[in-house]
Amino acid sequence: MNYNIAVIPGDGIGPEITAEAVKVLDAVAAKYGHEFNYTEVLLGGASIDVHGIPLTDEAIETAKASDAILMGSIGGDAKTSPWYQLEPSKRPEAGLLKIRKALNLFANLRPAYLYSELKDACPIKGAEDFNMIIVRELTGGLYFGERKTEEVDGVMTAVDTLSYNENEIRRIAIKAFEIAMKRGKKVISVDKANVLDTSRLWRKVVEEVAEGYPEVTLEHMLVDNCAMQLVHNPAQFDVILTENMFGDILSDEASMCTGSIGMLSSASLNETKLGLYEPSHGSAPDIAGKGIANPLATILSAAMMLRYSLDLDEEADAIEAAVKKTIEAGYRTVDIAKEGEAWLGTKEIGDKIVEFI
Ligand code: NAD
Repeated sequence: MNYNIAVIPGDGIGPEITAEAVKVLDAVAAKYGHEFNYTEVLLGGASIDVHGIPLTDEAIETAKASDAILMGSIGGDAKTSPWYQLEPSKRPEAGLLKIRKALNLFANLRPAYLYSELKDACPIKGAEDFNMIIVRELTGGLYFGERKTEEVDGVMTAVDTLSYNENEIRRIAIKAFEIAMKRGKKVISVDKANVLDTSRLWRKVVEEVAEGYPEVTLEHMLVDNCAMQLVHNPAQFDVILTENMFGDILSDEASMCTGSIGMLSSASLNETKLGLYEPSHGSAPDIAGKGIANPLATILSAAMMLRYSLDLDEEADAIEAAVKKTIEAGYRTVDIAKEGEAWLGTKEIGDKIVEFI
């Protein structure tokens, strides 16, 4: 099959790590008989340097016309980069917010998994292997509600509004159940239904959606309990479904539980199959151009892209298995190597993944 992939190399280590992901995708294409056509899209500082703005309308159109979007990371060193002399709406990060809005990316997927070989980095003593994915609602809730700060009876008072309608809840719940069908068929929906009306509506709608997926088990968990369970017994989770603010906090907690943030991928999806896939980490300007960045988070993001946007599950499995074998065989980039342990550069690790595929 033929697929059109928009590639956003971005800034800092972005071009180095996306080059490795593209190399791996090419290996998958050769093995499984696909054709991936790549179109480069400028976003962030790279776009400011050429067009004076972090994202052009043409770039958005190219992204929209593709089957999926693979991104490195964007942004520079805020203290030294000229991009940060610009007003906030013209800085690199504004381009990312603009593309998320233009593509209506309402579902954020953040996997967190523990590789046995990297257990030493996990801050949880004696943790069993875990493999979970957090499905976070990204465009509603507290972060997007009306807000104001004003004096009320001589006292400064601030109000933020938390609101969800049933349609917003339904579409994210459907995403979570669809994802669960491709994984361990277990959804834990996280809310605060003992206090919040939005959470009670959340539960009701999630239960309605669950009726359409009889193979998937659904549990509800209060957010405070979930925060404890993540460090107590992370292996119990498969898919965590939650609203915007809870997901923001829990996904950072879950990624810290792995101890290897540089290995974690992410995806943002809309109602169609289109999605934007990127590593969870930033553009690491401190190591850009040195050839030592860890490309695995981006390579694993490419695997997510195959699974969730292109429905190429077997090919996605092949990338994930190759990453696992690379780690099992003891190959490391410097960020995950133990002190004194030998390590490989960005390109060499990419080559190992290609070999294993
Ligand atoms: P960062 O994730 O870029 O770097 C934090 C530390 O982790 C650095 O020491 C870096 O060298 C290291 N690191 C990160 N990724 C690595 C990798 N793949 N391999 C090896 N080491 C790695 O976070 P930061 O320094 O806070 O941010 C740098 C820039 O990235 C900023 O401009 C920020 O706005 C941007 N950023 C972008 C995104 C995105 O594109 N979605 C996300 C987060 C931060």
